[in-house]
Amino acid sequence: MAQTQQDVLKASKEQCIFCKIISGDIPAAKIYEDDRVFAFLDINPVNAGHTLVVPKDHYIVLPQLPDDLAMHLIKVVKYLSGAIFEMTGAHGINIIQNNGAAAGQEVPHVHFHIIPRIQDDKSIGPWNRSKIDPEKLKQIAEEMGKNLKPISSSTVKLSSNTAVSKKTSKPKRKGKLVKVKRRTSTNSP
Ligand code: 5GP
Ligand code: ZN
Repeated sequence: MAQTQQDVLKASKEQCIFCKIISGDIPAAKIYEDDRVFAFLDINPVNAGHTLVVPKDHYIVLPQLPDDLAMHLIKVVKYLSGAIFEMTGAHGINIIQNNGAAAGQEVPHVHFHIIPRIQDDKSIGPWNRSKIDPEKLKQIAEEMGKNLKPISSSTVKLSSNTAVSKKTSKPKRKGKLVKVKRRTSTNSP
């Protein structure tokens, strides 16, 4: 029988380390909690104060969140990033949110990383950026625009390639994004 999105969510919740942290079954250094959101320090911080902000309900990737929960989660991320700026004296902050193994997601429970940065700390590597013909850029934007539905009717259907915690598994089909020429020089995000 075909697995529904609900089946996928249920199975991944049973194994989920962040759900166990939220329920108190696994200890964590909590810094914030309300009725819908929980925030705690990353066990392997990029820098001191590296915080993870998660919804208490189990969802795997950001597009699955109900809008009101997504809005509240972002509100907490905004609040905590300001507080962490002040508390740590950071010069900058990265907000990182990985969706799917291909994007580096290891824990299949939606989370935002708030990472305090000090000038030139080099703790997060430069992005591998690319050059692209402006005409091609226009063509991609038109194609993407055509496929966007009105925001109020937004729903998400996950591809099986969005699996997480399967770093070694190969996607079943190639991604649709066009190929771009890699730039040779390094660039900061
Ligand atoms: P991802 O790669 O999925 O975006 O990030 C997952 C993050 O969760 C990693 O930075 C990792 O260090 C953190 N993490 C994994 N397991 C635990 C844990 O048991 N406790 C805490 N506090 N953080 C964890
Ligand atoms: Zn979970």
